[in-house]
Amino acid sequence: MIDFVREKLAKTGADALLITQPANVRYLSGFGTPEDGRILITQDSAVLITDGRYIAQAKEQSKLQQDIIASGSQWPARVIALAKGKKLAVEADHLTHTQFEGFAKTLDVIGVENFLTEFRVIKQPHEIKLISEAAKLTDEAFSHILNIIKVGMTEVEVALELERFMRMGGADSVAFPITVASGYRSSMPHGTASTKVLAEHELVTLDFGAKIQGYHSDMTRTLAMGSLSEDEEKMYAAVLEAQETALDAIGPEKDGQEIDRIARDILGEHDLDQYFSHSLGHGVGLMIHEEPSLRANVPYILKAGMTATIEPGAYIPGKYGVRIEDLVVITSTSKHVLSISDKSLIRL
Ligand code: ZN
Ligand code: ZN
Repeated sequence: MIDFVREKLAKTGADALLITQPANVRYLSGFGTPEDGRILITQDSAVLITDGRYIAQAKEQSKLQQDIIASGSQWPARVIALAKGKKLAVEADHLTHTQFEGFAKTLDVIGVENFLTEFRVIKQPHEIKLISEAAKLTDEAFSHILNIIKVGMTEVEVALELERFMRMGGADSVAFPITVASGYRSSMPHGTASTKVLAEHELVTLDFGAKIQGYHSDMTRTLAMGSLSEDEEKMYAAVLEAQETALDAIGPEKDGQEIDRIARDILGEHDLDQYFSHSLGHGVGLMIHEEPSLRANVPYILKAGMTATIEPGAYIPGKYGVRIEDLVVITSTSKHVLSISDKSLIRL
């Protein structure tokens, strides 16, 4: 991978590249605490710069040459020393303005953006394996919570039980703050779990995932606490139809905006498209939201090795909402759906 990066670097006219964005540091080095590491790449070296706390860890996790500094805050000075006389490319979409100015005092510096995106968006087999493991643990956590969740629990209790299950099952952490949004709160697409108590006849949206060795998963299911109103039942059926139709349609060489359109049109047939207030989906990898983006009016041709979520939803502000989300990997001929949890309406 570093060779491809070097080839791309040569085209920028710079002769050194500084990687600071943690997901990118992890991607190129394997180092598991990437927020405390930086990578300097030249045409004949690739060095992971980290500090004394990580001597053993860096050695164990990374194949890159290692440069151990006395204190974490000294990395800019070390970069300046190592890149002396070189034209340095930095990640302008991550480095702070102050850090950039600091380098520019002594080095010839240029900014590059999304430099590794074209590589990272196509997952390698070891990455797909970890994302699949995270998705499997997410499915298992969902099966587990179905035995636990009941009227009278708070949203936070549900979220903590999901987290406990995934941590005990080997997750580094949750993939993002867990959404447990019940009743009127289900109309908030990102309703992080609150102290609200689950009540009878409510919809409850659970959006969660696990992180394993830096790789994320992402899944949403919406449950019913007992019986629902006719309109709520109709909304669930419409969102499910939109989700399954978009899922059927996705594959290699398809355009993300078309897949978004398919889901949006189905919600439109049920007069619910005005309540679908976000994009259809996103890639998942070392970050929870990354390319590709499946959204209206933005072309994005999907390729084998990309991941994508398909997560249509409908939210009537202040009343209720439904979202259903699966995670897929695009293959050379079709896709592999990683989320296997039941999507028919579960009434508890
Ligand atoms: Zn999600
Ligand atoms: Zn998502």
